Amino acid sequence: MHIYDFIAIGGGSAGLTAAAQVKSAGAKVAVVDHGAIGGLCSLNGCNPKKVLVRSAEVWDEVRRAADFGVALDAERLDWSRVVDRKETLTKGVTQGSEESLATQDIDLVRGAPRFISPTRLQVNDEIYEAAGILIATGSHPRRLEFPGSKFVHTSNDLLGLRRIPQTLVTIGAGAVAFELGQVFARAGSQVIITTPNSQALPMLDREIADAVIEFSRSVSIRVLTNARVRAVQRTDNQSTIELDVEGKATVINSDYVLNAAGRPASVDGLDLPRGNVQADKRGIIVTEFLRSPSNSHIFAAGDAHGRLQLSPIASYEGRIAGRNFLEGDVERVNYDSVPRAVFTIPPVAMVGLTEAEARKRGLNVTAVVRDMAEWKVYGIAGEVKAKAKVILEYGSGRIVGAHIFGAGAAEMIHVFAMAIRFGIPADELKRMVYVYPTFSSVLPYLLA
Ligand SMILES: Cc1cc2nc3c(=O)[nH]c(=O)nc-3n(C[C@H](O)[C@H](O)[C@H](O)COP(=O)(O)OP(=O)(O)OC[C@H]3O[C@@H](n4cnc5c(N)ncnc54)[C@H](O)[C@@H]3O)c2cc1C
Repeated sequence: MHIYDFIAIGGGSAGLTAAAQVKSAGAKVAVVDHGAIGGLCSLNGCNPKKVLVRSAEVWDEVRRAADFGVALDAERLDWSRVVDRKETLTKGVTQGSEESLATQDIDLVRGAPRFISPTRLQVNDEIYEAAGILIATGSHPRRLEFPGSKFVHTSNDLLGLRRIPQTLVTIGAGAVAFELGQVFARAGSQVIITTPNSQALPMLDREIADAVIEFSRSVSIRVLTNARVRAVQRTDNQSTIELDVEGKATVINSDYVLNAAGRPASVDGLDLPRGNVQADKRGIIVTEFLRSPSNSHIFAAGDAHGRLQLSPIASYEGRIAGRNFLEGDVERVNYDSVPRAVFTIPPVAMVGLTEAEARKRGLNVTAVVRDMAEWKVYGIAGEVKAKAKVILEYGSGRIVGAHIFGAGAAEMIHVFAMAIRFGIPADELKRMVYVYPTFSSVLPYLLA
């Protein structure tokens, strides 16, 4: 039997951060993983996607070059070179992570573990015991239950595709659908985003989501709500997608269908009942200290418990789980000031509450909505769409939420995140001096 102080199951952002945290206190630590370590974000998520987004942004600017007084002839998008660039910028992740574990003297165990008791795992034919076990197994694309679902591709497949599909249909209308939809729409695909729900981008403030959707339509992306896929058939290089759209049977032909229907936690195969660990449909159930309420030896972090599927959250939670293992339950998770972005072109970013959430909580708030498309800094940058909505508490001027759609949004949002985190009221942000002409220089005008 192999005895450790702490074992992280999963070598992604959450598992690697927790392992390093616990190791730094001198403990004996192992990471168990059944695949390539380094994490979804670096291998098949945030980074490779952002490389493609950046190429699509550059291509968009090249096509609008004449607007900036730049004459170009015979411009061409070489998608294979875009994918080469993505591969160059994202290679070496697994090797780097393995070397980092070796340098830290953290053991890497290869295999798929299953619980055989509340503190023991079986990996291959060996038994491993630890006083603390972190479940950081991430997530996987949702299994689609209709006939022909095997013809639907994952985001991993699309990120590696060396051609531009003529038509790209997404099943799902969240961040990944809009991000990759924008990339391929800019590259020349006809893009159709579908959702069985009544709203696309449900996690955004409605007014801002509507602006993103309207703008997406203006770059030829169709967004179909109340659209439920019934079946996909494949003949030659074409898929025929049968859907009900607003209750009417509809058929769409497409050469590429993407599963963007969300990612459930990857917890099957761990034999959780033998470890006395509970899970629900979101993933592992944990307390605000990231500890399992049914087994105090067990923690979960990142997509495996599925509260906020973001890479910095996986790392943040990994650190907190590691600390709570070492010191007892000393740090609670707090998501109040977590900024998020959807990397459409231009991007949309948010922090704090939407207006609907604020009102549901009974807060007395006012919403400042600004359409900035005609504002000087956006005009200078050649940006055609920009809208923001800031939710302020009446009287105190406390910033409750901020939602920005437009160039620079994913950078500007950090100012609002800091204001929420450190309780800086709107008046203080207004009194600050900002570099002009930058996108951030509009901030005082978003605060009433
Ligand atoms: C296309 C796409 C784009 C994204 N873009 C962004 C973005 O721009 N910004 C952002 O913040 N987030 C983004 N995300 C989300 C982000 O990538 C994840 O939230 C984050 O990487 C999760 O980290 P994790 O440590 O929880 O899991 P992972 O990084 O997935 O690590 C889980 C590890 O567990 C291992 N594992 C799984 N099951 C087992 C098992 N049974 N036994 C042993 N090992 C196992 C896996 O092999 C893997 O190494 C994106 C996701 C996708 C799919």
